[in-house]
Amino acid sequence: MLLIESKAVFRRRAFHRQKAHLILSALRHRAAELGDQAAYLRTETYRDGLREVREPLEVCHPTSRAALRFVQGLDQVTVLPPRGFVTSLDDFAEWADAKRGALRMEAFYRFTREHHQVLVDGDEPAGGRRSLDPANREPPPKGATRLDVPPPPMPKEDDIDAEVRADLDQWERQGIRFVGRDGPRRFPATTKEAKARLRHFLKHRLAMFGPYEDAMLAEDPWMAHSLRSSSFNLGLLDPVEAVRGAERAYRRDGAPLASVEGFVRQVIGWRDFIWNLYWYFEPGYQASNELSARRSVPAWFRDLDADAVRAHCLSDVLADLRDHGWVHHIPRLMVLGNYALHRGWRPAEMVDFFHRSFVDGYVWVMTVNVVGMSQYADLGRMSTKPYVSGGAYLNRMSDYCGGCRYDPKARLGERACPYTAGCWAFLARNRDRIPANARMARTIAQLDRLPDVDEVVAQEKRRGDTAP
Ligand SMILES: Cc1cc2nc3c(=O)[nH]c(=O)nc-3n(C[C@H](O)[C@H](O)[C@H](O)COP(=O)(O)OP(=O)(O)OC[C@H]3O[C@@H](n4cnc5c(N)ncnc54)[C@H](O)[C@@H]3O)c2cc1C
Ligand code: SF4
Repeated sequence: MLLIESKAVFRRRAFHRQKAHLILSALRHRAAELGDQAAYLRTETYRDGLREVREPLEVCHPTSRAALRFVQGLDQVTVLPPRGFVTSLDDFAEWADAKRGALRMEAFYRFTREHHQVLVDGDEPAGGRRSLDPANREPPPKGATRLDVPPPPMPKEDDIDAEVRADLDQWERQGIRFVGRDGPRRFPATTKEAKARLRHFLKHRLAMFGPYEDAMLAEDPWMAHSLRSSSFNLGLLDPVEAVRGAERAYRRDGAPLASVEGFVRQVIGWRDFIWNLYWYFEPGYQASNELSARRSVPAWFRDLDADAVRAHCLSDVLADLRDHGWVHHIPRLMVLGNYALHRGWRPAEMVDFFHRSFVDGYVWVMTVNVVGMSQYADLGRMSTKPYVSGGAYLNRMSDYCGGCRYDPKARLGERACPYTAGCWAFLARNRDRIPANARMARTIAQLDRLPDVDEVVAQEKRRGDTAP
């Protein structure tokens, strides 16, 4: 087994310090597990490492187009099918071709659940309904500052982690730049750690996952999320094992179906949908910018400078990201992505931001999540409407607004919420490009009735990209 640690990768981009730590720790732990079955090379580039090898090699299908081009250009290298996903690229392409452009996650999820017989009883979905999504959109429990679930077990660092930390300190002294803060490793670096976290999640946290998967609490960054994305993406945990485990928790241990269904939907639905779309869409997709968003992501956002921000929600999410290299999907979509969408920041820069700042960030997973879902830069090739909202949504789904200097209901003046006002300004700017479908009709009608839209637009122009 050949494992190459390339330093050039870390020179090219300022990754989150904890992401760099996790990746190196996982590589070095794998090398230690394999012992003399592995050749572990520390080189400047992958090509330098490959020069030291004379034998033919096999490589699993890489996870980015650039890496695929690279391995396809090498002599004596056979590319094997991808690992770590449930639906094959061919099965997906056949499904998608038949849809003739109407590529929606819900339809794919239906297909894949039936195809792989997950939560199915005979010809019927378990419990009689395919989607229990409406039961899974609860705001946080009233008055709670944390969810009533045991926290996820954190891995114990060992000598390998100590060595990684010392190397990263040295690289920093040599001028390699990172973002975010160092901290104890919070994400699994071995299959053993990943499986232990999965078992704990299925037993203690899954039941609360469903209802509160969209909710946010300032003092509870983890909520009941599974914290497994980095383990799937590093190949430490097979998504099929996680999904079968969740199904067992329902059938054998009585876990609530809505939570189990919500979880299965995320893993074999969303995750595989995003992966397959990355390969199904043309290579130029990642440069899509149909809303002509031309502003640069400002330094305070790029550098996770939470202290520069007074808007409670955004400041707290940036601080969590700075301290952990992770926040759950709603802060990603409705706090970070939503703000960038309002302000008209370049989608490609947002892809780079997510790639660098998140422990689980890779090109394949952010391309469609950010360009398509979060920035609507493809004008709806994979979604029916932009994920855009003002302060009312954030107020309903979190406890942030109570402690904020802004007012989620105010769109003008000193206390105008930057999300509320930013959302109206975005809608006014993009009125003609927003789909005139049933899901957007009410919002557009409200926009048309807004008496002070010009003032709101002017105010948000003045606010611009300064930290709110
Ligand atoms: C703007 C944006 C950017 C994102 N960037 C990434 C990223 O770089 N890497 C990444 O792995 N996920 C990304 N996601 C998806 C999702 O936010 C994370 O997978 C999830 O928050 C990870 O935490 P968790 O393991 O506790 O997930 P849970 O909430 O417990 O969900 C279970 C699993 O479902 C999968 N999943 C759910 N939704 C998605 C999705 N949209 N895309 C891919 N996998 C999904 C993940 O593997 C996750 O582990 C992004 C989502 C958005 C909206
Ligand atoms: S008032 Fe606006 S800025 Fe403040 S926390 Fe609420 S949504 Fe965020």
